Amino acid sequence: MPQPRTLPAQIVADTIIRTVELGVRITDAALDGDTTVLWCDLLVDGPGACPGCGMVGVYRDSVERRVSDVPVVGHPLQLRVRLPRYRCVHDGCAREIFAHDSSRLARPGASTTRRCAAFVLYRLAVDKATVTAVARELGRSWDTVNTIAVAATEQLLLTAGPARLDGVRVIGVDEHKWAHVFGAEGDGFVTVITDLTAVVAGQGPARLLDVVPGRSAAAMTGWLGAREQSFREQVEIVAMDGFGGYKNAATAVLPDAVTVMDPFHVVALAGHKLDLCRQRVQQATLGHRGRAGDPLYRIRRTLRTRLALLSDKQTARLEAVFAGEEHIAVEVTWWAYQQIITAYATDDRRRGKALLAAVIDRLRTGLPAGLAELATLGRTLHRRRDDVLAYFDHRASNGPTEAINGRLEALRRNALGFRNLINYRIRSLLHCGALAL
Ligand SMILES: [Zn+2]
Repeated sequence: MPQPRTLPAQIVADTIIRTVELGVRITDAALDGDTTVLWCDLLVDGPGACPGCGMVGVYRDSVERRVSDVPVVGHPLQLRVRLPRYRCVHDGCAREIFAHDSSRLARPGASTTRRCAAFVLYRLAVDKATVTAVARELGRSWDTVNTIAVAATEQLLLTAGPARLDGVRVIGVDEHKWAHVFGAEGDGFVTVITDLTAVVAGQGPARLLDVVPGRSAAAMTGWLGAREQSFREQVEIVAMDGFGGYKNAATAVLPDAVTVMDPFHVVALAGHKLDLCRQRVQQATLGHRGRAGDPLYRIRRTLRTRLALLSDKQTARLEAVFAGEEHIAVEVTWWAYQQIITAYATDDRRRGKALLAAVIDRLRTGLPAGLAELATLGRTLHRRRDDVLAYFDHRASNGPTEAINGRLEALRRNALGFRNLINYRIRSLLHCGALAL
């Protein structure tokens, strides 16, 4: 029976910690509260060269460099690495003393090892861990971990950049409010750009491409302009909301692409007009804002419910309110809203398209007075008629973008510490899986 071989403790420790990746050798270890501390020697082959003149120095003494490494069995790990220090004896060199180069272990000035960056990215992007959780694992501050993530992601973007855009034929453009604070960059709005190619092909989810400050035409024009010409040529469809700025940008920069105003925003716009109409009629009939017990206030949510989902009780309640002559404007606006939803819900695309075209045309001409909100809706939909109806031919919807926005919202809520947009942008890309690790 073979006897287990007794290994020197140092080999065991170096093997477990994989110090070969760090260029150090463990000499001692201790527990310091929650943190595991390892004392190490830097592996050197000969004296170091002076960073000033490049000449070999004369050994003087040693200093300790402390860096955090990836956690071991759930506890933060701190390395205390002994670095030889040298004197430069070269005449005319301004440098007197220098430490041995330890850039393989950690970047100059960094307080964490190089492999920590990969660990942080993996935890944030793949495990969807919070910065707070990773900071606890490493025994470092939130700021330190966030800084590591930002730097590492920027590096990734540099190396993996343009390939992310390969094969993108359908993009979604949407605005998202990220900062609910006064005076935030880009007015607190960002433009979210997504790859919808797989969605339209029925092959997969949307992918976040980028997040840029502001919600202006300039934001989108700038982003598109910064891409390769080959990318702009391969984009065939742009899905967007009703905001004219994006439309103008797409038309100017991607003249051959089809622009699609997606169902989500058309329905949201119609629903908003319905709310405005209800509030106006509420004021006109009762002279005050809606409050409990007011007929229109009581049905405010029922109005927004799809026809097909209304219970008998809700239908009866609507009918009772609509029976009042004074509520006729609300009823007509509500009907248009429901017709738009029905058109989108129609299985047969051609029938759906014809239905919505008919609604747009009706709103455009011959509307009686007293339907101000509906008239505005009609003008918007008529102006964007081609874009609205293009949905039925291409099925490019920003719906998935909205889902991603939901994730951004969650991200914003649990990361109130975002200092600036760059961090936000990079963390967003990480969280939404735009960057493959
Ligand atoms: Zn020197």
